[in-house]
Amino acid sequence: MTHHAPLPPEIARRRTFAIIAHPDAGKTTLTEKFLLFGGAIQMAGQVRAKGEARRTRSDFMKLEQDRGISVSASAMSFDFKQFRFNLVDTPGHSDFSEDTYRTLTAVDTAVMVIDGAKGVESQTRKLFEVCRLRDLPIVTFCNKMDREARDTFEIIDEIQEHLAIDVSPASWPIGSGREFLGCYDLLNDRLEIMDRADRNRVAESVEINGLDDPRMEQHIPADMLAKLREEVAMARELLPAFDRERFLEGSMTPIWFGSAINSFGVKELMDGIGTYGPEPQPQPAAERTVAPDEPHVTGFVFKVQANMDPKHRDRVAFVRLASGHFERGMKLLHVRSKKPMSVTSPVLFLASDRELAEEAWAGDIIGIPNHGQLRIGDALTEGEVLRFTGIPSFAPELLQGVRSTDPMKAKHLEKALMQFAEEGAAKVFKPSIGSGFVVGVVGALQFDVLASRIEIEYGIPVRFEASQFTSARWVQGPKDVVEKMVEDNKQFIAHDNDGDTVFLTRLQWDIDRVIRDYPGIKLTATKELM
Ligand code: GDP
Repeated sequence: MTHHAPLPPEIARRRTFAIIAHPDAGKTTLTEKFLLFGGAIQMAGQVRAKGEARRTRSDFMKLEQDRGISVSASAMSFDFKQFRFNLVDTPGHSDFSEDTYRTLTAVDTAVMVIDGAKGVESQTRKLFEVCRLRDLPIVTFCNKMDREARDTFEIIDEIQEHLAIDVSPASWPIGSGREFLGCYDLLNDRLEIMDRADRNRVAESVEINGLDDPRMEQHIPADMLAKLREEVAMARELLPAFDRERFLEGSMTPIWFGSAINSFGVKELMDGIGTYGPEPQPQPAAERTVAPDEPHVTGFVFKVQANMDPKHRDRVAFVRLASGHFERGMKLLHVRSKKPMSVTSPVLFLASDRELAEEAWAGDIIGIPNHGQLRIGDALTEGEVLRFTGIPSFAPELLQGVRSTDPMKAKHLEKALMQFAEEGAAKVFKPSIGSGFVVGVVGALQFDVLASRIEIEYGIPVRFEASQFTSARWVQGPKDVVEKMVEDNKQFIAHDNDGDTVFLTRLQWDIDRVIRDYPGIKLTATKELM
C-alpha cells in the first residue's frame, strides 16, 4: 500500500473514504458533522434535504424514510485544513450487498463507526470483513459517549477479539453518559472538553504538558482525573502504540471516542484521517497497476445510478479517477466499446449541491451523466486499453420470478429490469424457455426495494413470486462442451443482461451433476466485470 516517490500536492492532499456502520450507530450524524466542519453546510440537520440534486431524488427519499434504509448512494467532497475529502456513501440496506462491496473498491480508507454502548454489531462485522478482503485501512470512531457506554477497555477488547485487528487508542474518554467530559488526546497530549451547550460547536482544546500537568485539575474533578491517569497508564502498557505502517496495511486501527451529535471528537477524527490516512492508492488493472501520479487520466465506473432526475431518464456513472488530472471537456476512450466519449458535463459531488466539475484529480469521484453506455466496471482512459480488476459480480443468493400485475405493461417491465441490472441493483436473467424473468439478489430486502422502485419510477405494478431456483452460476469452458451442456439443460439455462450464459440451480446436486457430466465446464459464482 505504500507509495514511494512523493505525489503531486493536489493528489497527495486527497483522502477518499467511506463510512461503515451498523444502522443507528450514527453514520448520518457523523456525515453531517464532517460536512459542517468541511464548510459544506452551515448547520447540521441538512444532509437529508438540501440542494437540487437531493430534492429531485425525493422519491428515493420517501422510500428511505418509510423503511429507514438508504437506497441511493452518493459521493460528497469537502475541504478540511489542507485536505480534500471525498466521502463515498455506502448503501445501508441488506446484509451484504454488492453495492457496498463496489463502493469500497472506490475508496482508500474506511471509517468504522460503533455505538459505545453496543460495541461490534452484526452489520459492523460483515462490512468489516468486506474491508478486510481489500486490506483497506480502517479508522474507528466510537460514538455516543454522551450516553452510558461500556468500559473503554471492554470496547477495545471486543473489537480486537471479534474483528481480529489490533486497536490503538488515539484518544481516551473521560467518563461516559452524563459524566462524559471529553477526551484525552493521546497522540497530541491535549485535553478536549465537550461543549454541551452548543451541539454544533467544536470542542475546546486545552494544550497541556502530559497527563501530570497540574492544569488538568482545573478541568477534571479529582476522582475522574485519578481514574483517567490510571487507565491511560494501563492502556499505554497493555495496548499497542499507533503504528502508521500497520494501519496502512490494515492490521491495526486507531480508535477515537466521541459524540457525533455533540460534534465531539469529529475534528480529531478528521485530523486523523487527513494526517495518517492513505493518499490515493495505485489501482490494479489486468494489464498493469495504475499509479495515481501518471500523467494520463484513467478511471473506472464503480456505481451507476439511474433516475437521479425523474424528468430525464438519464443515469449517472460514478467514476473513481485512478490517475491523472481530469479537465472538463476531455475526450476519453470508453474501453469496452472502443468509442471516444466527450465528457462535457461531469458532476462533482460538492456536498450541498451537484456542481459542474471543471477539474478533478486522481482519487476524486466524478459523476458522468449518460444514457446507459457506461456500466459498472467500465474503464475510461486517454487511449490506453486498460481493464480495472477487482470489481466482481456476485452470484445472487435469492431468486424470484417477477411479472407485472398489469399485462399491458409487461414490455416496459423488461426495460425497467434491464436498467436495474445495469445499475447493479439486481441480477436479471432471461430463461431460455418460457416468458418472464428471474431476478436475483443477495439480500431479501432488495426485492422490496426493487418492487417499490419499479412502481415509483416506471409506474409498473409488479409481483415477485417464488421460483424453483435458488442460485445461479456463470458457465465457462470449451465451446463445444458448453454448447452441449446448454442444449441438454435448456430448462435451466438463462442469459444475464450482458448476454452471458447462466445455469440456474435448485440444489448443490445440480452443480455437481453438471461438473461431473461435462468435463472442462466451469460454473463460477462470480463474474469479473470488465
Ligand atoms: P445511522 O443509522 O448510522 O445513520 O445513524 P444516525 O446518524 O441516524 O443516528 C441514529 C440515532 O442516534 C439518531 O437518533 C441520532 O440522533 C442518534 N445519535 C447519533 N449520534 C449520537 C451521539 O453522539 N449521541 C447520542 N446520544 N445520540 C446520537
